[in-house]
Amino acid sequence: MAAYLHKAGMRTRIANLAAGMVRSKRFDPERFIARSKAKVFGVDLHWLPHAHGALAVAELVKKHHPEAPVLFGGYSSSYFHDELIQYPQVDYVLRGDSTEEPLRQLMECLLEARSPLDADPKVLSSIANLTWQDAKGDVRVNPQAYVPPSLDHLDMDYRQMVRSVVQSADFMNHVPFDHWMDYPVMAALTVRGCKHNCAYCGGSAYASKLISEREAPAYRSPERLAEDLFRMHEISRGPAFILGDIRQAGMDHARRFLDSMKGYPGQAMLEVFEPLSREFAEELVDALPNFVIEFSPESHDPAVREAIHKRFSNEEIEATIEACLDVGCRRFDLFFMTGLPKQTKQSVLDGVDYCEELMARFDDGRLIPFVGPLAPFVDPGSLFYEQSETYGYDIRFQTLEEHRQALLAPTWKHILNYETRWMSRDEIAEVTYEAGRRLNALKARFGLAEPDVAAETERRIDRAVSLMATIDELLERYEGKELERELQALKPEIDQANTSTVCEKTELDLPFDITAFNWSRLFRMGVADVFSGLKEALVGR
Ligand code: SF4
Repeated sequence: MAAYLHKAGMRTRIANLAAGMVRSKRFDPERFIARSKAKVFGVDLHWLPHAHGALAVAELVKKHHPEAPVLFGGYSSSYFHDELIQYPQVDYVLRGDSTEEPLRQLMECLLEARSPLDADPKVLSSIANLTWQDAKGDVRVNPQAYVPPSLDHLDMDYRQMVRSVVQSADFMNHVPFDHWMDYPVMAALTVRGCKHNCAYCGGSAYASKLISEREAPAYRSPERLAEDLFRMHEISRGPAFILGDIRQAGMDHARRFLDSMKGYPGQAMLEVFEPLSREFAEELVDALPNFVIEFSPESHDPAVREAIHKRFSNEEIEATIEACLDVGCRRFDLFFMTGLPKQTKQSVLDGVDYCEELMARFDDGRLIPFVGPLAPFVDPGSLFYEQSETYGYDIRFQTLEEHRQALLAPTWKHILNYETRWMSRDEIAEVTYEAGRRLNALKARFGLAEPDVAAETERRIDRAVSLMATIDELLERYEGKELERELQALKPEIDQANTSTVCEKTELDLPFDITAFNWSRLFRMGVADVFSGLKEALVGR
């Protein structure tokens, strides 16, 4: 979006306040916002766990810049747009999975207005995907007419990030997460929408139709996708995460992409949504010798997989692992989930036994299983949420405000917005920790985790379990101010327990070159952008 606006002659700046707060206790987001000179502020509310933070940021913006319009966008903003627009700190919501062009039109309109909140209602009425309030305070929901059929209108221009860093003289607030400087993974977008319908997923075909009125996925053409990756590699030596299964648009599409990727020197992490054949694994290694696979069967039990619409067999999972490891895949990450339909505590633990079998069979250290809960929220828009009874879910919160309030609860168990017919919230939390504990021990046994790292993970799980029991007791015993005081005393422990408990956070990271960035290239781009920034400051907006 920043690149799109830049092309239209506007200056933008991305600020990752959360990463700043995690990285340094001295970083003060309110002071950062107060000092900002932006004419318009945009806040990302994509996944619902950001509901509390996103609205709090918007509140700070309104406190320090009462005249500046505040825009929201993202899946959760789109789903809850009519409720979101009622918050006093929110002026506009852009709905759908693609908002670049409506955003440009809205920005033109806001920048042309005499005062920022005095935008022309005729122009506002004509902007696709926009939810806004007119002068009488009536909510206006413009048709969701902007649903581009492909992603080729986008410039995945990573120079924009460099340019923004140079112009703001601020690198650290541009990073996507706190240890990104040490692990500069970059993501390439292959698709918006998905043709699959995993029942828990807010990005599924069903949810895309509901939230974005998307009838079919929008793909990036294979050649442009390959260009994106080569351009990313000019900046970062970290791995490239290719979001979306490259076979979704068909095998011809996937092969054109692989042909265009030949000679790519970096590590590529590929998501696979379905099992793959030996033949395709060979094509993968031929084009991307340093490939890594991310595969999420979610359960070892075919009945559970069937209930979430993942219709493949254990034999196919194993054949996929075998094919990829045989041809030389650098690593194969396998993900399992707790909190699914037809899944009992025993089923989750049987899943860990299945991991043990796989680790024993593929025991050269490249197959790495993970287990984690469906948490904290079942995505609004997903089949679980929209047809909860059919899938055996009891959804506890319906509104954005209920979810925002829930995020103030002390642990992820208390935040969960669901229980299933097969497990209560207590059981989901209990078995998640137990599964994490057993898997951690297996990783130590099979040499996938260093003994000291595994011991530390074990200690973290113990601490989290005992802390959860303490909090449950406090919730039974106290309420109101007294409860708040007791919980406040535990806050440092709670914060610690809320970070990567069942596995070490860096377990997902891949080792890479000794240099994280192509510094000479960045330096050359930066020098060019100092001059272009000066020019823009003189003639641009
Ligand atoms: S989980 Fe992945 S494959 Fe399944 S619907 Fe969501 S994006 Fe598609």
